[in-house]
Amino acid sequence: MCYKHKGFVIFVNLVIIISILTGCSEAENTDTASQSQTQTLPISENYFIFDTVVSVRVYDERIEKSHFDYIESIMEQIDETMNRFKEESEVAKVNRLAGEEAVQVTEETYHIIKTAKEYALRSEGRFEPTIGPLVDLWAIGNGGSEVPPIAEIDAAKQLIDFNKLELNDDSLTVKLQQKGMTLDLGAIAKGYAADVIASYLQEQGFTSAIIDLGGNILAMGSKPDKSPWRIGIQSPDENRGEHLGTISVVNKTIVTSGVYERYFIYDNKQYHHIIDPFTGYPAANELASATIITEKSMHADAMSTTVFLLGLEEGMAFVESTENTEAIFVTNDHKVYVTSGLKDNFKLTRQEYELVE
Ligand code: ADP
Ligand code: MG
Repeated sequence: MCYKHKGFVIFVNLVIIISILTGCSEAENTDTASQSQTQTLPISENYFIFDTVVSVRVYDERIEKSHFDYIESIMEQIDETMNRFKEESEVAKVNRLAGEEAVQVTEETYHIIKTAKEYALRSEGRFEPTIGPLVDLWAIGNGGSEVPPIAEIDAAKQLIDFNKLELNDDSLTVKLQQKGMTLDLGAIAKGYAADVIASYLQEQGFTSAIIDLGGNILAMGSKPDKSPWRIGIQSPDENRGEHLGTISVVNKTIVTSGVYERYFIYDNKQYHHIIDPFTGYPAANELASATIITEKSMHADAMSTTVFLLGLEEGMAFVESTENTEAIFVTNDHKVYVTSGLKDNFKLTRQEYELVE
């Protein structure tokens, strides 16, 4: 039995970030410390928030510390309102008053909860914004180290049902109908944060940046020379910390959900952090990772979790029926499948993997 504690998770995320860096241009590989002194591009800032390392790299000499400070405040504000583990957050309040009262939330929070419910509807409850009780029980990446007793899994499952997440568009109120139900926005909030950071940078006149929230990438605009960004797709085999391939994008977000993000090993079996609400266990299908490429990071985040839960066939169909959205699926047996719009774009770089045409 072995337990991967938070420190290790951070390390894994760092590996992902570094591996993404190596997929980009020479300029992106320059050392951060010397960048701010010499103004070599990009100029970047790192943060630790949302339980991960966030890096914002801007390809414009006009970016200042005040911009980076503002970006920090954007993320803190999102964390303060949507992190269910922060007592004062709106989500924590909804959870505390489950089975009792509807809670009025800000437009922003309402919009995210509503989007999360839409993904629950579209995936017939695989994506489950009320997954909280099972996430707490397994506590993967948060102290959990063994499979919970079946009776406890069954009890937690009784508290999970997005149909009992009541939303009122007029009053912007949210209510969980049953005591003990718990809203969890962990699969969508980071994506939303990336979108807000990108909007802010755009408002401020910046057109070229990479926003990286623990491996969730938003590639704003194009490279300063107007050529597309080349983004590395992480190999789900965490021992390598390397890409399995690359894609070229302009103004897109690339978000991956995978078995390697947070997990523990028990009895030689890996248990990761995306829970199938139907079984009460971590999703177990042929997928090792699912990557979504689209325009809004909130959708990419929700969708990468959704299609990871749906599995290869259904996940593929889900993405093919969604406009302006592409995906890369990697199976446990090292096969790579890409959606139709990526056929001429995705380049496999590791021979351990096989691209299925
Ligand atoms: P990461 O946080 O590693 O980027 P995801 O975006 O896939 O990965 O989100 C995983 C998080 O989503 C979990 O930590 C948990 O909080 C939540 N979650 C777990 N299972 C589900 C599910 N079936 N539906 C929605 N959210 C889930
Ligand atoms: Mg997600």
